[in-house]
Order: sequence, then C-alpha cells, then structure tokens
Amino acid sequence: MNLEAFYKMSYGIYMIASCDGDELSAYIANTAFQVTATPPKLAISCHKDNHSAGVIERSGVFTVSALEKDTDAGLIGLFGYKSGNEKQKFQRVNYITGVTGAPVILTHAAAYFECRVVDQFDVGTHYLFIGEVVEAVLNGEDKDPLTYAWYREELQGYAPERAPTYIDRSKIAKPAEDREAPETTDERYICPICAYVYDPLKGDVSQDIPPGTPFEDLPADWICPVCAAAKSMFIPEN
Ligand code: FE
Repeated sequence: MNLEAFYKMSYGIYMIASCDGDELSAYIANTAFQVTATPPKLAISCHKDNHSAGVIERSGVFTVSALEKDTDAGLIGLFGYKSGNEKQKFQRVNYITGVTGAPVILTHAAAYFECRVVDQFDVGTHYLFIGEVVEAVLNGEDKDPLTYAWYREELQGYAPERAPTYIDRSKIAKPAEDREAPETTDERYICPICAYVYDPLKGDVSQDIPPGTPFEDLPADWICPVCAAAKSMFIPEN
C-alpha cells in the first residue's frame, strides 16, 4: 500500500466544538464533510480517546467552524496538538453560544455550522457522528478556506496520531535526495509535537527566515510555525 496516495485526498481544516453543561471541548479536524443536502447533514470523525468524543456523545450537539486560509498556526497548535485545560484554551479565542447551546469558535472562522447529532457509528478507533445542520453562517464572505493540502505543503503540518487521516511518515519512502547524507548545515529538524519539519533549504517564510538558514542559526525565540513549540524542543530528523 502506498500511503502517499492518501495525500491526494482533499480536505479542509475545521474547528469542532461542543459542550456538555459547562464542560467545554474543541479540537482541530480535517475530517468534516457534508453527507446529505436535504436536510443538510455533516459527518465528523472523532477519536474515541479525545475528550470531545464523550462530550459530543453526551450532549448530542457540535459546531463546525471552517478555518480561513490565514489561520494563525498557534491556534491549530493549541487545539490540534496540545492536551490541556479546555476552559483555558477557550479563553484564548472569541466564541459565542449557538442555537443548540454549543460553543461556536469565531476566531479565524470563514463560516460555521451548528449541528444536532442524528446518528453515531462506531468505526473502530473513531466515532463517526452525523449531525443535522440547524444553522449555517458566513463569517466574512471574503475569507478563503484553509485546505489540508495547503496546511501540509506550505506550513509543513501533519495530522497528529489520533487524526483519522494520520499517516506514519516513517513508512513513506523518502525522496532520493533525502537519502544522501546531508551536510550538517542542511540537517532537517522535526517538531516532536506536530511533526513539522524545519528544512534549511526552504527556511520559514512565516517568520522571515530565508532559505539556506541552518537550524542552528535560527533565533532563540523562533517557534514551530505550526504548533508554536519552542526551538529547543526540536530534534534532528536523522
Ligand atoms: Fe510543531
């Protein structure tokens, strides 16, 4: 099986949020898609070990915010890769309570959908929740949506281990140029939290780091452009 074939599947990037009473929960997902038009229904896939799975199961409601292309990488890092106190995470974003009572995160949302769960399927490691859309709102018509391909190719971001689309990159054959022993200044470094790879040949345009900058020469306050992890956390790829 060629795992790279899965990279040819196209997705957006979404913030899925819910609450059960005052227990808030939210996570970043690329697996959210419309499954029927009349009435409109969305499907989401949530890892059973995610805090959100239990919250959505108990409350029967969730919201989906379609993130815009200019979404701050720190937001994806906060909700996509870091476990922690959900209330503290919500303090870092702008959100409202929607018609179902579930929170709607507006920060970097191009649009949002509010859903009531009408079906739930056990698909092994994940639950597939089917939600009927009870509200859909454009949050700025000029905002382009963030796509998973752009996130992966431009931000060098990868799905974390609990994502439905997680790929073990150690099982993907590396391109020929990567197999040749790199000079030490060309060594790539990997973020242990989100698997972003800093490639000296590419630099980091998001933080004005020009191509050709060795990892060692990055400023001490440089952070992972995907999840905001500190430079000191990075490890050599080989
Ligand atoms: Fe990272």
